[in-house]
Amino acid sequence: MKRLTRQWRAWLMLAFALAAVGVLMAVSLRNEHKRIETYELERLSTQAKLIEANLVRQLSAIQRSLLSIQGDLPRWQRSPAGWLEGQQTLRNMEIAMSAVRTFAVLDAQGTVTFSSRDELLGRNFYQRDYVQVPLKTLDPKLLYVSPPYRSVLNNYLISLTRVLLDERGQFAGVVLASIDPIDMDILLNSARYSNDMQAILVHGDGMIFRSEPKLDTTMEQALLAPNTLLGRHLRNHPVAGPVDAEKVVSTDQRLSVMRTILPDALVMDKPLEVVLTRAREPLFVAWQADVLAQVGAYLLLVLISLFGLSVYQAQQTQKIMAATRLKLATEASGVGIWEFDLITKSYQWDHTMFELFGIDPKTASARNDDWIKLLSPQELERMREATRVTIRQNQPFGMTFQIRRPDGESRFMHNRAALYSDDRGVPRRLIGATEDVTQRMAQESELRIAAAAFESHESMLITNAQVEILRVNQAFSQLYGLAASEVVGRNPSLLKSGRHPPDFYTAMWAELAAHHSWQGEVWNVRKNGLEFPCWLCITAVRDDEGMVTHYVATHTDITLRKTAEDEVKRLAFFDPLTNLPNRRLLSDRLHQAVIKVKREQGHLALIFVDLDKFKPVNDRHGHAAGDQLLQAVAHRLRTCVRESDTVARVGGDEFVVLLASISQAQDAMQVAQKIHAALRVPFHLPVGQSVQISSSTGVALYPEHGLDEATLSHHADVAMYAAKAAGRDQYMVYEPSLDHPAL
Ligand code: GH3
Ligand code: MG
Repeated sequence: MKRLTRQWRAWLMLAFALAAVGVLMAVSLRNEHKRIETYELERLSTQAKLIEANLVRQLSAIQRSLLSIQGDLPRWQRSPAGWLEGQQTLRNMEIAMSAVRTFAVLDAQGTVTFSSRDELLGRNFYQRDYVQVPLKTLDPKLLYVSPPYRSVLNNYLISLTRVLLDERGQFAGVVLASIDPIDMDILLNSARYSNDMQAILVHGDGMIFRSEPKLDTTMEQALLAPNTLLGRHLRNHPVAGPVDAEKVVSTDQRLSVMRTILPDALVMDKPLEVVLTRAREPLFVAWQADVLAQVGAYLLLVLISLFGLSVYQAQQTQKIMAATRLKLATEASGVGIWEFDLITKSYQWDHTMFELFGIDPKTASARNDDWIKLLSPQELERMREATRVTIRQNQPFGMTFQIRRPDGESRFMHNRAALYSDDRGVPRRLIGATEDVTQRMAQESELRIAAAAFESHESMLITNAQVEILRVNQAFSQLYGLAASEVVGRNPSLLKSGRHPPDFYTAMWAELAAHHSWQGEVWNVRKNGLEFPCWLCITAVRDDEGMVTHYVATHTDITLRKTAEDEVKRLAFFDPLTNLPNRRLLSDRLHQAVIKVKREQGHLALIFVDLDKFKPVNDRHGHAAGDQLLQAVAHRLRTCVRESDTVARVGGDEFVVLLASISQAQDAMQVAQKIHAALRVPFHLPVGQSVQISSSTGVALYPEHGLDEATLSHHADVAMYAAKAAGRDQYMVYEPSLDHPAL
């Protein structure tokens, strides 16, 4: 917004400047125009004055001539000799005065009595104005100036006459001098200094007498029209002197100067007017060319300045954008920019530098070198040495150093700098960039630790979020017999043994998604095809936004542990000698069986078997033989029942058979019978002896003899003891009467 305003301001200023220059140029051109006009008018005026002076002199001379003729006239009239003298004098005077064409004397009747031109003698001009006006005015001082007229000799003339009076003051004629038009033409021409200049001599009545060059009728009329300067002037009873310049000829744009010739010394009844005009156009040809040139130059200036400003502004915008980009980039990257002047030993920092070093720009010293205090003496020395090397060898500078910021925080900074020398190659400045690498260094060390940890003895596997294997460690390769190159990029499912149904893995992934970790026992397979139990821990690694980026899995071979566990389990639930379920497992199975049989309203049987007189076998054949016998008994008992039935060893020579599901009591009897018979068959022990034994067996049935495990067990026991008591080698089904054999 601010920049926009500045741009507009620049345009506005340029517009003003251009307008000012334009106005100045216009004013100067106008002044020049005026100056040309004024100069020209002065020049015309000077010429007009020349003509005036000349004419006044001529008129005065004519007046004097006429006066002298007047004075001599009585003498000339007295005798024929006098007349001849007069004639001769007039001729001589005419010759002497180039301005005069004819001198003449007319008598009271208007007849020419004397004339410098003989052909006019005796001719009568009584009707002419130059006779009539003096006749009427009878003013002896008056010099009558006739309007131009066509003479008898076919000349266009102006005549000047003075009245002649006799002794009584009566009209006695006039003395006349006619002005020579040729001489006037010469005079007018002499004032012309250019071809477009018009010099005109006008009679006070408004009639043009002479004009150089010659005017045609149209121009003549135009010149004398009432609205022209001349026309107006003549109507205003002119007095002698100049007239302001104005358009004289309406059909043409002309500069004009006019002088009225009416000298005080002469009493002329009508003035003569000198008009000098000049066409305006030729005067301003150079000026117009100047105008064109200046307008062209001005337009060029406008174009160049508009173009220049727009280019300049575009460049400024580019510069500002580049600076903004650089600022954003350095700010975003957190890189501080600095400059060190090698001569003044002062630093210039950007905003980021102050932030990085935790220094308030307001409190910074003139040289801005307070940060040096943040370095330990060793770090400072290291820094100085690096700087010296940079300056001496003109090498780029790059080092990481530690500072303790004013707020007490320890930070690691990385400095990069380049040396700038002046034209003569003298180093002047170091320009550099500083970056806080504390976090990066911490991360790097964490990475090193992680890398070391990764190569631990524990087998590890890392996948990306798409569960493609990225890395495995050495321990993994050893465990599975798979090199990293064989597994990287593949899915860990290649390790599956096939022992677990798909549901197992579905549940595993659900757990991972919910809690970001899973652990459990999995059967995996090695490269050689051998399956083994594996304790698998999977952890989902998430980014700052909680998105899973990796999965890390540790695989632990738990074959040994598993074996140990199985052993413990076996010891806990099985009889180590016969591998038959022990009392604990039996009671568990009995419990389950009772629940089941209750629900299904079925039957079950519990059969207690105790070997008869086993102790003597031990005594006779040794304890080892006794063990072998017990194992053999166990085997035979198993053959007597179905897979689903349980045969347990619950004491030294005591066995329990659980028939979990029988349809009737008779089934139990059959099994008891079968067991009894089986155990009676002699045993051939591995140690060589053949042994024959018998057994005593008690049977309790569900639901007949009890509805719970304890009652059933007790009653089977009771029945077994009853069989023993009854002389051994038999089986008995419980009946309540057995409870109290003594009764
Ligand atoms: P009865 O006919 O009354 O049952 O007499 P019996 O000799 O069988 O004596 P009883 O059932 O009371 O005792 C069992 C004997 O079994 C006691 C012991 O010496 C022997 N015995 C117990 N456990 C083991 C064993 O694990 N191995 C061997 N070899 N003998 C055992
Ligand atoms: Mg016994």
